[in-house]
Amino acid sequence: MSSALTALEAQVRDDLAKTSHPNAPWLEPKPGPDGKPALDVLIVGAGQSGLATAFGLMRSQVTNILIVDKAEEGKEGPWLSYARMHTLRSPKDFTGPDLDIPSLTYQSWHEARFGKEDWDHLDLIPRELWADYLLWFKHAVGLTVRNGCELLEIVPASDGLLAATVECGDATETLYARKIVLATGQEAMGNWTVPEPLRHLPARLLALASDRIDFGALAGKTVAVIGAGATAFDNAATALEAGAAEVHLLCRRAEIQLIQPYRWLTFRGFLRHFCDLDDAWRWRFMRAILELREGFPQATYDRCAQFANFHLHEGTPIEAAREVGDAVELRTPRGIVSANFVICGTGTDIDVAERRELGKFADNIATWADRYDPPESERSPRLGRYPYLADDYAFTERVPGKTPWISNIHLFAFASTMSFGPSGSSINAMTTAIPKLVYGLTRGLFRADLERHWNSFNAYDVPQAVIARQKQAAEERG
Ligand SMILES: Cc1cc2nc3c(=O)[nH]c(=O)nc-3n(C[C@H](O)[C@H](O)[C@H](O)COP(=O)(O)OP(=O)(O)OC[C@H]3O[C@@H](n4cnc5c(N)ncnc54)[C@H](O)[C@@H]3O)c2cc1C
Repeated sequence: MSSALTALEAQVRDDLAKTSHPNAPWLEPKPGPDGKPALDVLIVGAGQSGLATAFGLMRSQVTNILIVDKAEEGKEGPWLSYARMHTLRSPKDFTGPDLDIPSLTYQSWHEARFGKEDWDHLDLIPRELWADYLLWFKHAVGLTVRNGCELLEIVPASDGLLAATVECGDATETLYARKIVLATGQEAMGNWTVPEPLRHLPARLLALASDRIDFGALAGKTVAVIGAGATAFDNAATALEAGAAEVHLLCRRAEIQLIQPYRWLTFRGFLRHFCDLDDAWRWRFMRAILELREGFPQATYDRCAQFANFHLHEGTPIEAAREVGDAVELRTPRGIVSANFVICGTGTDIDVAERRELGKFADNIATWADRYDPPESERSPRLGRYPYLADDYAFTERVPGKTPWISNIHLFAFASTMSFGPSGSSINAMTTAIPKLVYGLTRGLFRADLERHWNSFNAYDVPQAVIARQKQAAEERG
């Protein structure tokens, strides 16, 4: 490790020590049904959200925690798998997992590794470096992750605990925890979507943007990419760079989305207090924002547009698709588009029942459609499927009393967006959203232990000073 990085890590330790107040331990492990201490919090997902949540909890003296991730170490999140952009889309100065500790920011790490001048000249953060930074962050704040460990199921256990079945390698085991945070990313509450007319196509002709795709095999072929968000463009660019003969990007809307609403909303007032608004305002804002979808940065477009064999088709929804030999014919209102391979970059949809780990209680997770009836002009069945979360990111019940224990399962992922605005799965919101989640978790743990705290307070008998009367008595005793 370079001396600059070693010095930075010393600085991190110093900063954390100087800002650790109040650092008195305040939790006692509860015994689980297996006789071992249950975890205070189990965090599922060791992407940026899971790591930052764990860091926030450690700073609140909630240290009896465990982070698990099904991915192997270094492969958490999308950065080194299906993320196909060269750089992050967020501006380089957006801070996140550091939770406002300067020495833990991406900028500090970048400057320690490559020098200040390099940072000054950096345009956007290369995604591989963001992945490296997250690994360093984990190490610098002293977090450990159990990798290759997948959450399969959550059920209630005795004494208000949750039982999480996890599969680690070939072994299955049960972890008991008072609370579980699902920081499981983009697909946490659903799955990637395929437009209905394409669903019958075989895997040799169709892939999702989140799939492993052999782009080399697309050299000389015609590729159709469905969708017009940044991910669709990234896939189109990767196919073009791999030597695809033609790439057609098919956008359903009459005009491609150029405005990035997430830029507008990146101010402390919105990020911090959106969740305090009433349902009508939260719905109005998030419906408008999520219906617009996200715009893409200039560099994302330029990466495609520099190729003469890139074709952008606006106002081109897919009406039907049929296999013709080795190719697919896509019927659109503007005519037929033929392609040898189709990539769907149409995003994710919320469908709680899709998630195996939520299967046992999916039908009792309250959604926005259960809780809020928008005016006719603001209806959206798609957004109505988002979970309606409590103010601590916990699931709420559709039928009260049926699964009360789900109030100890907290969702910090893209699906939290309708309730909280950008929060999980968004770098721009981490500095405001993670403290809110941590606050909710510690509030729940504290309240649940009130009786113990009251008894502890009453039993507290540590004198802070010795007064004359006591000294005299002690001398007399000899
Ligand atoms: C291609 C792409 C580019 C993006 N670019 C940007 C950007 O530039 N700026 C920005 O602000 N945001 C961006 N985002 C959005 C967001 O920042 C990322 O999705 C980010 O990875 C979210 O972090 P996360 O920790 O919430 O989820 P993830 O990074 O997805 O991590 C979730 C983790 O949970 C694990 N997991 C899931 N299910 C289980 C299970 N059952 N058991 C155990 N482990 C499980 C996964 O293996 C994964 O490692 C991008 C998203 C994508 C997909």
